[in-house]
Amino acid sequence: MVTSRDGGTSMPPYAGLNLGDHVGDDPEAVSVNRRLLASRVGRPVQFMRQVHGAQVSLVRAPGPPPEADAMVTDAAGVALAVLVADCVPVMFESPAAVGVAHAGRQGMAAGVLAATLKIFDELGVDRSSIDVTLGPAICGRCYEVPADMRADVQRRVPGSGSETRAGTPALDLRAGLRAQLATAGVGRVVLSDRCSAESGDLYSYRRDGRTGRFAGLAWLP
Ligand SMILES: [Zn+2]
Repeated sequence: MVTSRDGGTSMPPYAGLNLGDHVGDDPEAVSVNRRLLASRVGRPVQFMRQVHGAQVSLVRAPGPPPEADAMVTDAAGVALAVLVADCVPVMFESPAAVGVAHAGRQGMAAGVLAATLKIFDELGVDRSSIDVTLGPAICGRCYEVPADMRADVQRRVPGSGSETRAGTPALDLRAGLRAQLATAGVGRVVLSDRCSAESGDLYSYRRDGRTGRFAGLAWLP
């Protein structure tokens, strides 16, 4: 499940359901928004302190946010949340365990998806039972980067290089992640075609600078 700006209490420039508590928004508004989300999913929501890396945390019960860019749980009493505003929210769903990952340029290149799947392996979850969703994120025609950065990321993650509409160097994060998943042995891979920078109902750091964060969530029923 992925949230949007709809239904929250934050004021501009965070207007809507901002779930990020590290972006300068009123802490009271963020905590009301987080309570609204928890009541919508019917269980406590576990957030993380995201650091653009590939650290994965195994969660068994709600607690303070771990310093991590991915979480996995085999417990039904908690929903896992990843916060984004252009980076890719990745949801892993299997009958035995679920996970979320924060996959931006750095996390993708650092191998956050592979690190997350390794935790599923350690739990004994069959990879073919895991469906992976790559949620709304900045698209390959909007995410302009310097030419040397594109070359570096494309070398580390083949398939991630792209071009903007103007023909300048860009990255397509979801294409790179899909390429990484192609050999990972997972079940279904679903790609959202929504671009955060082109969708006014989503937060986009590239478009707006100071702004909120929306969330991708996964939980066991
Ligand atoms: Zn776009």
